[in-house]
Amino acid sequence: MKVELNFITQEDAKRIISTEDNYIKKLTDKEIELRMFGETNISKVKYLNSLKDSTLNWNENDINRIKKIFKSINKNIKEIIENDSYEIKLIKTNGKDEWNSAYTRDDYIFIPQKKVSTYTDSKFERLLVHEIFHIISRKDKKIRKALYEILGYNLIQNIEIKEIINKKILTNPDTVGKWCTATGEYNQTKIKVTPIVALKDNLNIIESKLDIVNSIDILFLKIENNCGIELIPAKDIKIDEKTVFRINGRIEHPEEIIAEYFVEIVLDKNYTKDDYKGEMYRILINKGDD
Ligand SMILES: [Zn+2]
Repeated sequence: MKVELNFITQEDAKRIISTEDNYIKKLTDKEIELRMFGETNISKVKYLNSLKDSTLNWNENDINRIKKIFKSINKNIKEIIENDSYEIKLIKTNGKDEWNSAYTRDDYIFIPQKKVSTYTDSKFERLLVHEIFHIISRKDKKIRKALYEILGYNLIQNIEIKEIINKKILTNPDTVGKWCTATGEYNQTKIKVTPIVALKDNLNIIESKLDIVNSIDILFLKIENNCGIELIPAKDIKIDEKTVFRINGRIEHPEEIIAEYFVEIVLDKNYTKDDYKGEMYRILINKGDD
């Protein structure tokens, strides 16, 4: 796999970040309110304009540094997936778009200024590889399906979510459209669930000075007949160990779990000893075929 890298100018970034893709379409009024730091009655146009305002230009220093980091990433990734090539486009933001998180939409990686300036080269390298995985998983459904199955998740079609539940959900741009379910046990009954990010019960806004993870919980959404009908605390669901791999003590969406494994496979090359990583490595080199 070859990854080609492009740095997007602020002018183009404004157009791209305000494109009404599946992610923007999915945002509820409540979520837009949270993303506008609690300001109420925000029109879509105003929100999209604030996204445009969050974009920045890359400077010469950034570009040279990231190009250098990318060289070694490319070498490592090439050893894993040989023939495919991916174009990755980088957009710099001031962090107000997504609480200082890096994230992807389409084949763009959005990176906040704060991470560019404070991350060491090796931390930044891991961040890029993690984000590159989200793009591979978005573009290659066959690979996504095979990798999710290792963790006990099956891909499903778009689901409907009850309005009252939808208001509590925070959309992770990296998991949009990547619906999947695992089987868990709840009150002695087997049910289908999918992990969902929600604002902590005791909060009304995201505490923007802290890392976003301080303001959110990961819950399980119960799915029945393609409908999300109930939010259940993770501790109340009995679920296979491999399915609830924890990142920093949190249960995560398989997309995020596998992105972390992908970083270890690509950069640490320690996939031979660990069962899941070994299986993932084989799927990656065989491009989704068993
Ligand atoms: Zn991620």
